[in-house]
Amino acid sequence: MTNIIIFLGPPGAGKGTQASRLAEDNNLAHISTGDMLRGHVSNNTELGKTAKSLLDEGKLVPDSLVIEMLIERLNADDCKNGAILDGFPRTLAQAKSLETLNENFSISKVIVFEAEQNELIKRILHRGETSGRGDDTKESISVRLDVYKEDTEPLIEYYDKGNLTVKINAVGEIDDIYNLISRSFS
Ligand code: AMP
Repeated sequence: MTNIIIFLGPPGAGKGTQASRLAEDNNLAHISTGDMLRGHVSNNTELGKTAKSLLDEGKLVPDSLVIEMLIERLNADDCKNGAILDGFPRTLAQAKSLETLNENFSISKVIVFEAEQNELIKRILHRGETSGRGDDTKESISVRLDVYKEDTEPLIEYYDKGNLTVKINAVGEIDDIYNLISRSFS
């Protein structure tokens, strides 16, 4: 049985940083759909060609493409011990796709990262100075925050109903936030 942990939260909340550390400490796969898509863009694959302008504008890549990419990734050997999903699901259709996976997968927890919008904008602009990401810009950030509110935030309620959510205040020291997340598993 593969345990899936979902990291849910707005852009700039620190999901990637915390996911890579938690994955390393617990021998879990860290699956960032954003990183995977950026990989497709830099390798200029068919998917990358479709995704490039959407990523730059801060819009979502179509569900069918992301779902197919994610499911293929989950079947890789390194996921056998469990996986952290960082940036997936982002829509209700994506969340439902996880439920159609076979009985070998189960969602054990949904960590919800909470932070104020002003803090997020500040962090992403700061990250943009060194990240080289085409979407860490003022225009794109505002689209990404709107998309989060509209399409992704409703998933919190969806997973609340299954009693899967743990809400984390994502503002503060990286180590303190990491401890909060780790503690939610004990
Ligand atoms: P992230 O690195 O998670 O901030 O994602 C960067 C960008 O990749 C997003 O703004 C979307 O354009 C795209 N993306 C990442 N994950 C998804 C997803 N689950 N569904 C649709 N688009 C995604």
